[in-house]
Amino acid sequence: MKQVHEIEHAFLGGHGYLEVICGPMFSGKTEELIRRVRRFQYAKMEVVVFKPHLDTRYEKNLVISHSLQEVQSVSVQGPLEIKEYLKNAKTEIKVVALDEAQFFSEDIVDLAEELVQKGIRVIAAGLNQDYLARPFGAMPQLLSNADFITKLLAICMKCGNLASKTQRIVPSVFPTLLNPVLIGGSTQYEARCRNCYEGKI
Ligand code: ADP
Ligand code: MG
Repeated sequence: MKQVHEIEHAFLGGHGYLEVICGPMFSGKTEELIRRVRRFQYAKMEVVVFKPHLDTRYEKNLVISHSLQEVQSVSVQGPLEIKEYLKNAKTEIKVVALDEAQFFSEDIVDLAEELVQKGIRVIAAGLNQDYLARPFGAMPQLLSNADFITKLLAICMKCGNLASKTQRIVPSVFPTLLNPVLIGGSTQYEARCRNCYEGKI
């Protein structure tokens, strides 16, 4: 928690920062993103949450955690659309939050840097690994650029230990390189510890 404290203190200086929240599915990334977003809203700061169009699991304009906490969001195709949205915004946006950041194209990395340079606080939450434990999308680069990193763990659905992996529990119908993850929830994926993680099924 000390780290989060440091981030919040640092923000009083009005500088931009890149914060990355990562971990496997069910580790609380979205909850943590929502928690941070709410605190800015209490401070009456202009916050926008973006989520990739690809994430069609819930309501189009809501980011919802597995524990059913929710926050308003804007569904976008990608970084270009985020840029456009911010350019046309009527108020000065101070915080940009990105959920499911692993699904954005690599351009998200430059955009995040650009926003941070402008003094915006960028919070990116996403899976650091896919279900085969491979680095996921632009997350490695975002993590590499981040000023603050929060790596979360879930609870292993097999043994109750701390889980850092996402296990796919139903085979993918059409596994392709372009579509490494079947978008889904607890019927398709489980959080697993290193011992119980099986990888490819
Ligand atoms: P993420 O965005 O990382 O997938 P969420 O923030 O949406 O995670 O949801 C986290 C919540 O999911 C937890 O607070 C808990 O209520 C619930 N949950 C369901 N399965 C698990 C699990 N295996 N380990 C931990 N939390 C779980
Ligand atoms: Mg999430």
